[in-house]
Amino acid sequence: MLKIENLKVKVQDKEIIKGLSLDINPGEVHAIMGPNGAGKSTLSYTLAGKEGYEVTDGHVDFKGHNLLNMSIDERANNGLFLAFQYPVEIEGVTNNTFLRMAINSKRKFLGEKEMNTLEFMKALSANIKDLHIHSDMGKRGVNSGFSGGEKKRNEVLQMTMLQPDMIIMDETDSGLDIDALREVADGVNRLRSEGRSFLIITHYQRLLDYIQPDFIHVLADGKITKTGDKNLALELEETGYKS
Ligand code: ADP
Ligand code: MG
Repeated sequence: MLKIENLKVKVQDKEIIKGLSLDINPGEVHAIMGPNGAGKSTLSYTLAGKEGYEVTDGHVDFKGHNLLNMSIDERANNGLFLAFQYPVEIEGVTNNTFLRMAINSKRKFLGEKEMNTLEFMKALSANIKDLHIHSDMGKRGVNSGFSGGEKKRNEVLQMTMLQPDMIIMDETDSGLDIDALREVADGVNRLRSEGRSFLIITHYQRLLDYIQPDFIHVLADGKITKTGDKNLALELEETGYKS
């Protein structure tokens, strides 16, 4: 699904990612844990194609194509989804309109029929119920004035509606209370399937109590320094990242 080889990334002339390799197969859930400033968000922004992240070496293959040559839109249309650590607010576009535009732009790109209003509302109402999202939020601007928890639920709503193949979540758990954390995790678990992969970036072990990863990697100083199974999270909780 996603194969990262010896990736090196500079931000404002400073090397942040320093030769990172990672291979994610279809259906696998990988978690990346690491201390503050390790380069976790830099990795996710680079994969999403954000401006200002200069790849100086390495290669990233996404479903058999060179990811680094794709525009942001192409990445999304080909099935990559990034849930941001700090979801952006967009005034003037309602959450529902935004969601429907995103779905239909992807369908158009894939040569599929667009989703009509009725189909959209049906899919939406089932999903907002599962995620405990108030239906009024769809009429507000995208994330505009949403609480931290509402923004994160909204990210899960977006991925549920868009059905991406590869989902990258950057600290989606930060700032969530325990109920919201569980609901976000439930939403993610409902999306797990044979053909869909996840890269879950987190600072704390607790999210991984609810979303059980196949592999856990430690990212420190721009590199993967350790890889293990789900027990590695518990080990790290005891010993910290330094050992
Ligand atoms: P993490 O998400 O693991 O906490 P980040 O990827 O956000 O870490 O940051 C890694 C390092 O890159 C930090 O030292 C940070 O200060 C630096 N960095 C990230 N973004 C920028 C930027 N836009 N300009 C300058 N330095 C940056
Ligand atoms: Mg970060």
